[in-house]
Amino acid sequence: MKKFLTTLLVAVSLATTALWGQTPDKIRTMVIAGQDGSHWWKGACDAIKQILENSGLFTVDFCFTPGYNGDMAEFRPQFDKYDLIVINYGGTPWIEEVQQAFEKYVREGGGVVFIHSSVIPMENWQAWNDITGLGAWNGRNEKWGPYLYMKDGHTIYDYTPGDAGYHGLQHQITVVNRATEHPILKGLPVRWRHYKDEIYTKLRGPARNVEILSTALEAGRDEPLMWTVKYGKGRSFVDVMGHCGNDPNMIYSMTCSGYQITFLRGCEWAATGKVTQAVPADFPLEDTCMLRPDFKAPFNAFPE
Ligand code: ZN
Repeated sequence: MKKFLTTLLVAVSLATTALWGQTPDKIRTMVIAGQDGSHWWKGACDAIKQILENSGLFTVDFCFTPGYNGDMAEFRPQFDKYDLIVINYGGTPWIEEVQQAFEKYVREGGGVVFIHSSVIPMENWQAWNDITGLGAWNGRNEKWGPYLYMKDGHTIYDYTPGDAGYHGLQHQITVVNRATEHPILKGLPVRWRHYKDEIYTKLRGPARNVEILSTALEAGRDEPLMWTVKYGKGRSFVDVMGHCGNDPNMIYSMTCSGYQITFLRGCEWAATGKVTQAVPADFPLEDTCMLRPDFKAPFNAFPE
């Protein structure tokens, strides 16, 4: 009996080590990418991995789709193995089985973060539109839902007919944090200067269970740049900043410290429902950009 108990204890301890022994307190993250005709997604993925891993809070695996001419049936990500899914994808639709697995993952409490062009693809997948809340281009119009923006501090659901999605040339912009008590934004300066980026506007979609976090003034409208969506028990954080042009030197938007800090906080919130990160000293000022070209906080960024 004693021998049996010893064997059992060893077995339990081995199993525990196998389950939790690797990186017990880091957020296991899967980044999905692989097709995007308008962006240098490989450069963006490299930046995303460095930002996440340099924070010490996340481990990162990639799951890439085949290229545009590939067989999408080969793309079968194992969502359940991760605490967080980060999507940086602007390509062809996933197969039905993967779509259902993703819906289930989020509905049952999974965390997901969408970057920039991820609000464009898969326009005919209802749950994708529900989980992103708002989308752009690919034929979206009033049938997808209202335009969502802010006016005089109020959220506007605008049902005017029309297409979705517009952007001009890349430029710097002042971001205004609106949901200042949300864990992602709490303690951050309310107005901050974002380094050069491509600002998406005229977004529309189901807009259900959406909370706008931050806006930028474009063509007279306070357009949402970051927002959250509740879907079942899951949490979704959408950040339409983070454009990476088709050029190795064009990951400038992600070098902004404000981008990196809000992205890290959004990722932690989506995975766990809370944010434990201190507010770093290198957050941008209202009229001054701050950069982290090495994709990590400088040694003196955190308060004593
Ligand atoms: Zn872009």
